[in-house]
Amino acid sequence: MEKIRLHDKEFTIFLSPAEIQDAVSDMAAKINNDLVGKYPLFLGILNGSFMFTADLLKKINIDCSVSFIKLASYRGARTTGTVKELIGLDEDLGGRTVVILEDIVDTGTTLQSLVSRLRELNPLEVRIATLLLKPGAFSGGIHLDYVGMEIPNDFIVGYGLDYDQLGRNFEGIYKIAAGGVTEPDPAAQAGSNEKQ
Ligand code: 5GP
Ligand code: MG
Repeated sequence: MEKIRLHDKEFTIFLSPAEIQDAVSDMAAKINNDLVGKYPLFLGILNGSFMFTADLLKKINIDCSVSFIKLASYRGARTTGTVKELIGLDEDLGGRTVVILEDIVDTGTTLQSLVSRLRELNPLEVRIATLLLKPGAFSGGIHLDYVGMEIPNDFIVGYGLDYDQLGRNFEGIYKIAAGGVTEPDPAAQAGSNEKQ
């Protein structure tokens, strides 16, 4: 499918399923090599990384475990900043090598707060694996251990990523068509940030 329509916007194909799988395979090969014997815990960040997590894990051939968490944003009573609450974390992270699996890193703010929350749980180390990175938006405030692909600052959907909850089911990744908005729609961003 070259074009899809979600809500009021048109998207065109940006990364084919084969291109995505190649990037996932390359990343899995590096992780298999780096983390053999470390019994890593892969932590998929819902909702966006469900497909990436499933495909990556099919290519991991070392002893490992996998779990998922969801991040909820809420306004702290005494701060103006957004605090991320971790939902569903039922693993003991003590002494573990934790690998966060994220769909996309934009500014990096989401991951920065997640990593500091996870470090409080005394893991041996926390690594980050993201399928996609937007270098044009990234603050650089956090180290990314594994990056599948670098992409421009266009708003994308598919392969787990949504536009206001639509589009997560596609095997390819699509970018907003010329003439559409080029930045994330504020309404869609707010929605996806609450239910990543
Ligand atoms: P950050 O905190 O790095 O700025 O934002 C990361 C989160 O924003 C991602 O996990 C994702 O939920 C959302 N996001 C950033 N860029 C895009 C995009 O192009 N498309 C979609 N669907 N979500 C995005
Ligand atoms: Mg996400």
